[in-house]
Amino acid sequence: MATLCPICSTQLRGRSDKLFCTTKCKSIYHYQLAKEVVTETSRIDRLLHKNYKILRKLIPKEMSQTRVSKNYLDQKNFQYQYLTGFKKVQKNKVFHCVYDIAWRKIDDDTVLLIRTKTMDLLAILLLLSYSF
Ligand SMILES: [Zn+2]
Repeated sequence: MATLCPICSTQLRGRSDKLFCTTKCKSIYHYQLAKEVVTETSRIDRLLHKNYKILRKLIPKEMSQTRVSKNYLDQKNFQYQYLTGFKKVQKNKVFHCVYDIAWRKIDDDTVLLIRTKTMDLLAILLLLSYSF
């Protein structure tokens, strides 16, 4: 079966591992791919930054943890599904991270916010207390 150039659909000739008919088509492909990557990652980056701004106002740098109402986050249109990671502190206690701020629903109306630095210290203290 003949392999076609993914850009212009011309039948490829020459080496069997050839992917594009010309360097021009190869350039077009990589340009389109880079454009798609920027478009999609920018959209998600904006949502992550917006989430971070919402949390940052609720937990200033000097504060290690606080509780906020889920209702408030909903009103601010906080996007719970956009995260930069997870941190498990204990069995069944998973925090959702947005950069250096982590959150966890503690009941239907309350969300606990904590600085990830504080979580790392807590984890070390827990480890130390278990070893004694
Ligand atoms: Zn082509």
